[in-house]
Amino acid sequence: MVLTDRVLMGPGPSNPYPEATAGLGRPMLGHLDPEFISTLDETCARLREVWKTANPLTLPVSGTGSAGMEAAFVNTLSPGDVVVVGVNGLFGDRMCDVARRCRAEVIRVDAPWGRALDPQQVLEAHGAPKLIALVHAETSTGVRNDVAAVAEGKGDALLLVDCVTSLGGIPVDIDGWGVDVAYSGTQKCLGVSPGLAPFTMGERAVERRVRDPQSWYLDLGMIGDYTSGATRKYHHTAPISMIFSLHAALGALLEEGLEAAWERHASCGAALQDGLQELGLELWAQEGHRLPELTTVVVPEGVDDAAVRTALLERYGIEIGGGVGPWAGKIWRIGCMGHTARMRNVTLLLGALTELLGR
Ligand SMILES: *Cc1c(COP(=O)(O)O)cnc(C)c1O
Repeated sequence: MVLTDRVLMGPGPSNPYPEATAGLGRPMLGHLDPEFISTLDETCARLREVWKTANPLTLPVSGTGSAGMEAAFVNTLSPGDVVVVGVNGLFGDRMCDVARRCRAEVIRVDAPWGRALDPQQVLEAHGAPKLIALVHAETSTGVRNDVAAVAEGKGDALLLVDCVTSLGGIPVDIDGWGVDVAYSGTQKCLGVSPGLAPFTMGERAVERRVRDPQSWYLDLGMIGDYTSGATRKYHHTAPISMIFSLHAALGALLEEGLEAAWERHASCGAALQDGLQELGLELWAQEGHRLPELTTVVVPEGVDDAAVRTALLERYGIEIGGGVGPWAGKIWRIGCMGHTARMRNVTLLLGALTELLGR
């Protein structure tokens, strides 16, 4: 999935992306240490900047992106509530499963994998849902869904958005768009180790929050108190090193500037997609909705999917992903996100493919 996992983490004489592991080596502190608590507060403040929100309830949930997804649903849906879920890939499908386990009434709006959701169709699926949910950047297909258009027409419904592969890579504007609940993950465009789920929830959603969610660990009523500075209450032991790492990564991102980071992803993605087409390869995701950070391309006829991916990994230290679900063996998914979104990686991959495919 990540373009150059080995380049990212080594081996080799030097790690070209020290930012990716910054903070992990910071000396351990206790989870009640005032210095740790102030770092946690600052991490939440930095997250607000990156999410573009003033939401007080903004924090890193302990767990990977999927924990963020589950926290989002269990705190907003009670049995019998109506939720409309837009599905055009693996992660939208997973949202339906999570919502079903909350015993909600799930209304699916499907679009073919590789194409974007139709916002109007999502909005017209039900007259008065409690919640509308969709994935901003579908990592399984490389497609961007139009969050702003759904937000504009959501009416009284709450809007929940998966930003796991969008936060830090393409524009996300929680308050500007009017998104009520959103979650992300550390290991995609933020370029940190996996293990935390940046999370935010606005006032409208807090007011309608489930009071006694089926999950104890992910109950935001309690987790919210856990990150609230001076009045902080013990809920669980914070994963100290991961929070140090996220703190450092968000600092680096804000120093680079959000716009500059989006532009870096955009220009690398464009160069990659142009280069692939020049090699005669066919881009798979719908034009106009292609993610720069996750490019999907059709495996050319007569080419051995697994053999090419193995050679890329073993000879060049580049890892690309295969297709998932019905598209296994038929497409490649090329991640170019976080610290790996650099022109040198694009050049290296295009050169490697030129050689391996004999173009
Ligand atoms: C990776 C991903 C997730 C799940 O995140 P994990 O960190 O693997 O739990 C959810 N949604 C999307 C869109 C993703 O790309």
